[in-house]
Amino acid sequence: MRLSRNHNAMPIKTATMNNLTNRYKNVRSRVNSACLKASRTPESVTLLAVSKRHSAEKIRQLYDLGQKCFGENQVQEALHKRQYLQDLDIQWHFIGTIQSNKTRDISEHFDWVQSVDRLKILQRLAEQRPRQLQPLNICLQVNIDSEPQKSGVLPEDLPELAARAVELKALTLRGLMAIPRQSQNLDTLRGSFSRLYQQYQSLNEQGFALDTLSMGMSADLEIAVDQGSTMVRIGTDLFGPRD
Ligand SMILES: *Cc1c(COP(=O)(O)O)cnc(C)c1O
Repeated sequence: MRLSRNHNAMPIKTATMNNLTNRYKNVRSRVNSACLKASRTPESVTLLAVSKRHSAEKIRQLYDLGQKCFGENQVQEALHKRQYLQDLDIQWHFIGTIQSNKTRDISEHFDWVQSVDRLKILQRLAEQRPRQLQPLNICLQVNIDSEPQKSGVLPEDLPELAARAVELKALTLRGLMAIPRQSQNLDTLRGSFSRLYQQYQSLNEQGFALDTLSMGMSADLEIAVDQGSTMVRIGTDLFGPRD
């Protein structure tokens, strides 16, 4: 902090808060307009604030503005923040790559896990979920463009994994999540979102009671909402660039 150049420290803090307030209002209004355009109600899309690599203090500020759901992708980082924010009624979502040796921490400290892509992880999360807690909400991450090296269950393996997930009583299968291939071409991106929506619909026709389709990030939330997203995961456009 260069206090010598800033004799009154308050304006900096106020400026940060105003930025966050403005960004939050802006993202909310983008989601609302996207819903309006798609003839959907604003309540049909949940805003998940992706707070990875942003401070607990910023999470608290956003919470005070009305934001309740936050997403993190590193277990240790998330646990530190949780500790500091214990007094808040936050719904915590895990959205990162899951290593087997982290499933206990994830299952004990999160409300949702959106990045499950294999049976072993499902089983561990179920076994390790504390009895006194509600079932852990699960989204299966789908590698919707079948990209090599990318996490996510392949589309052709999804029905089998979903069938196994609903057998586990400590879990509630809520839906699907995907991060489509990076593409400058909006039609390509729309195609990926549309295929994920079809997978979601198809599972529901088979009797799975899914209510969550987690797709869309800062750059493409409008297209995702147009294609049926029920949850957009926004980091950069809410918090600014990550460190
Ligand atoms: C980081 C991240 C986001 C948010 O990305 P932004 O482009 O910053 O909005 C969304 N989903 C997942 C899985 C992420 O890891």
